[in-house]
Amino acid sequence: MYKTRQRAAVEMAGQLGADALLVVGLVSIRYLSGFTGSEATLFIADESALLLCDSRYTLQASAEADSCRVEEYKVKLDGIAAAIRGAGCRRLAFDAEKTAVSFFNRLSAKLPEVEFVPLADQLDRLRAVKTADEILRVENSAKLASTAFRELLPLIRPGVSERFLAVELEMLMKRSGAEDKAFDFIVASGERGALPHGAASEKLISSGELVTIDFGARCNGYHSDETVTVAVGKPDATLLGIYRIVKDAHDMAIAAIRHGAECRAVDAIAREHIGSCGYGDNFGHGLGHGVGLEIHEKPVFSPRSDDVLQEGMIVTVEPGIYLPGIGGVRIESLLLVTADGSRLLGGVDKEIIFC
Ligand code: ZN
Ligand code: ZN
Repeated sequence: MYKTRQRAAVEMAGQLGADALLVVGLVSIRYLSGFTGSEATLFIADESALLLCDSRYTLQASAEADSCRVEEYKVKLDGIAAAIRGAGCRRLAFDAEKTAVSFFNRLSAKLPEVEFVPLADQLDRLRAVKTADEILRVENSAKLASTAFRELLPLIRPGVSERFLAVELEMLMKRSGAEDKAFDFIVASGERGALPHGAASEKLISSGELVTIDFGARCNGYHSDETVTVAVGKPDATLLGIYRIVKDAHDMAIAAIRHGAECRAVDAIAREHIGSCGYGDNFGHGLGHGVGLEIHEKPVFSPRSDDVLQEGMIVTVEPGIYLPGIGGVRIESLLLVTADGSRLLGGVDKEIIFC
């Protein structure tokens, strides 16, 4: 599997005229080699991949990255420069978005004979379509997170703080086997619901509020991502009205997802519905994103996206309406793109839940 991925990466670099590839981003390194440590550099030339690391990781790298030759360096820069020089590399593609400028300056000064070819998002694109094993891992994270959320529901009541709910949800996930939370959960209640990324605060939940909770788990390196907005007590008609609009936008966008659909067009379906209900200025972010080894990856749903859906991609659909001074609603589901539609991965039912 890793050899196949490495071949695809080298082929991509070759299309840019490069004869080798240097990868420093840890997510790409994990994807291309299986190595899960926190420091390494991957150099791929032709058919051979070399994983360079320091003594902390030599054993782990040898065990995890059996598709690579593992080499330990004493001085990182010297080790990497020697590998590149030893391979006779002339044009080297590198993941520019993950390479520190200071590191690049020192490396390129050591290798005046090498031309460096910066990659934009090509390495990220390699990860967009998932294998069956990756789909299982994301689905496992998603089911675990949704189950934990259902267990949290009885605790959502007036008088508890947003932070209490975030901590409880994290504990529920970790007790069920999540290796970590996928990100810092968003818990935004009442007026704070107008903050699309309102981190859980000490604010106490009151009756009559909507509470938006954006959460996910990580298992075996793969993330999940879901948002549920619940009602505590009896929120007023405006809030329940925007819930309906967001839910309809969510359902309409999901109905348009299939292999070959343009991400921009799917985004437009939800955006136009929200706009037609008079809330176009209150939905500023993109409709969704890919999920995998990273919580946000390719493809992207937005008015500016050129991405096209392919079978095997895993995406979120998460429209929202945010009303300053009043509150907000976001509803997010995680889906696998199939040939003729999509399949939900985990997920709590998105009809409004009254707590
Ligand atoms: Zn989310
Ligand atoms: Zn998301």
